[in-house]
Order: sequence, then structure tokens, then C-alpha cells
Amino acid sequence: MDFELALVTLLILFVLNVVFLLPMAVGEKIMPSDNPAIRTYFVYVGSSTYHPADLNSLLNESLSYWKETDHVNFKYVQDSQDATFTIRWIPETDEPYSAYTVNKRTIEIGLGDSKCNGVWHAYDSKFILSLLEHEIGHALGHEHSIIASSIMYPIINDAKYAPTNSTYVLDSTKPLFIQACTFNTVSSFHYKVASNGKTPINAYFVDWSHQYGNLKKASEMTPYKERGCHGAGAYNLEGTCDVFSNSGLLIVPEKADSADQTITVFIDELTS
Ligand SMILES: [Zn+2]
Repeated sequence: MDFELALVTLLILFVLNVVFLLPMAVGEKIMPSDNPAIRTYFVYVGSSTYHPADLNSLLNESLSYWKETDHVNFKYVQDSQDATFTIRWIPETDEPYSAYTVNKRTIEIGLGDSKCNGVWHAYDSKFILSLLEHEIGHALGHEHSIIASSIMYPIINDAKYAPTNSTYVLDSTKPLFIQACTFNTVSSFHYKVASNGKTPINAYFVDWSHQYGNLKKASEMTPYKERGCHGAGAYNLEGTCDVFSNSGLLIVPEKADSADQTITVFIDELTS
């Protein structure tokens, strides 16, 4: 009898789930702000800090999103005392979250973090746009959504670091390792390496997590073998490689006794 009762209960729960969850799964409707009296929000923006993207454009874009979605207006104010909510740009949050909102009044947007390899990396502009839209949603009174595609879903799906394009001095005595920073367990990176034309170079993606500590012994590294993950003996190399997190690009001069040379390295994570 107990078994039958449990079976019936399970069946009822299953039916209830279907009935209650289906309407939400069909399409999310973001309800207007919980405070209908507020139609114009006054926004104070704190002083900006370094980021490669145009933060003001991203903020305008996110306000436009909510203007259309919630049918509200926004006005920038010069004094934080006059603000309905404040946006603060910070290089990196202390929290496990990349951004947060306190009491619907103070939004703090992290512009990057140093979680990848201890070095600060800027977030991609699209990720910052998503953070802004999500946190402004909270300031407008929206709670989290259970719909993964919603901007109010508590996890941002397109979290990504900004592409990097940096210059390095390639030491002839040891390989240069550049980590490919990602929030994903598996991801795809596009890379371009350009030397100053003095010595041909070799570049290949390696899984750093299994080989940490052996960076000076390039011969011990096991590179990804797939096409696009390596290039050799050229002044300009380019490719796209699927890697696990904690991977990166290892670059060495083709000849071990060559002089130091300047190289530029571009790495960008590809998102679907
Ligand atoms: Zn949230």
C-alpha cells in the first residue's frame, strides 16, 4: 500500500510540475517594475576606471533595453543624492559574483578579475553588458528568473574575458606561456602570433593544469595535437583550438640559440 501511495504521489507531483512549469517555459514575460509609481529612474554614474571597452555606451545600451522592456525612463544626475540608483565601476569585486546590487540602490560592476592566473584580466564588453542589464533589472525590482535564457537568470551564460593583444619579449632560453583565460571547462580560442621577423617561431596550445611547474622544459609539454592548435617555423602563426580550461599558448623560437625578439600575441575566446 505504501509503495502504491508513493507512486500515486509521484505521479501527482509529475502532473503538477508539468502544469505549473509549462506556461513559464513557453516564454518568459518580464513583469514591469514592482514599484509602478516610479516611471523615471535617476541614475548616478561613479567615476570610471580602466577598461578597454566604452563603458558609457554599454550603460546606455543596457538602459535602452530596460526602457523598452519595462516602459520606464532614465535620467543621468550629477549628484548621487538625487539618484534612484548608482552605478559604480570597480576593477574587481571582493565577492564570488562579478557584480551585485545592494538595496536596489547601489550597483557595483566588476570590470575584470584576477581569478584566472593571479593577473587581472578585463571582462569582455558583451559580458559587462549582460552584468549591467542583470543588475539594473534588480534595481528596477526584478527578482531572479529560472529561465536560463533570461537576463535575470542568476548565472550569465556569455561570461568571457576580453580578447588580449599584447607585446612580449621572447627569451631564447625559455618558452613564453600565455594562459587562455576562460570561465568554461572546455572552450575554443583563436590566436595570432607575429614575430618581428628575426627568427621563425613555434607556437602550440598545451594543457597547463597537468604540466604546471614544468614550464621551462618545453620538451616535456604535450601539446594539443588537433589541427589549428599549433604552428611551426613561421614569422606569423594563426589558428583556432579547442582546449580545456587551464590551457594556454606556448611560444618558443624555432632555434634555441636565437636572439631575444619582440612578438605580439592576440588571443580571443570564441563563443557560440
Ligand atoms: Zn542577480
